[in-house]
Amino acid sequence: MDVTLEKRLRDDETLMDKNFLVTNLDSLLNWARGHSFWPVTLGLACCAIEMMATGGPRYDISRFGWEVFRASPRQADVMIVAGTCTRKMAPLLRRVYDQMPEPKWVIAMGSCANAGGPFVDSYSMMAGVDKIVPVDVYIPGCPPRPESLLYGLLQLQYKVSNPAKVRLMKHGK
Ligand code: SF4
Repeated sequence: MDVTLEKRLRDDETLMDKNFLVTNLDSLLNWARGHSFWPVTLGLACCAIEMMATGGPRYDISRFGWEVFRASPRQADVMIVAGTCTRKMAPLLRRVYDQMPEPKWVIAMGSCANAGGPFVDSYSMMAGVDKIVPVDVYIPGCPPRPESLLYGLLQLQYKVSNPAKVRLMKHGK
């Protein structure tokens, strides 16, 4: 083959490698979802203060693409349950979850949301919001710091972006 033509073909291949990405639509959508969460804020107690701090300029949540906190569940895909959930609050929490469109995910933020926290023995307390809604990520702490919430969101991002890998880790198939 002509040397010039061979070089041109090689250059074209390098150009293709650098400028094209081959994927499928599902992977692209999951990647986009993981990089643009729209959280519905469910601040139920003290943990909510740390959630609010996470949305402040110091922690710059925008660099991850998750800064669009929504007050309406209809416009959200991630529910961050931040704080204590009482038995009275439980049906309302479930209603907010039901009003979110699919696909949707839940983060339990703090010991109270995870398992009742310091109030676990109280007659009025839910011992974990996973009794009401399916929880994808649990963030420990009383309260967890904003860095922990960001780490939890990164874990969720991994889960959403790599469903096959997560299924493999969970079930071995
Ligand atoms: S985990 Fe601690 S900081 Fe968070 S809501 Fe419960 S008592 Fe408050």
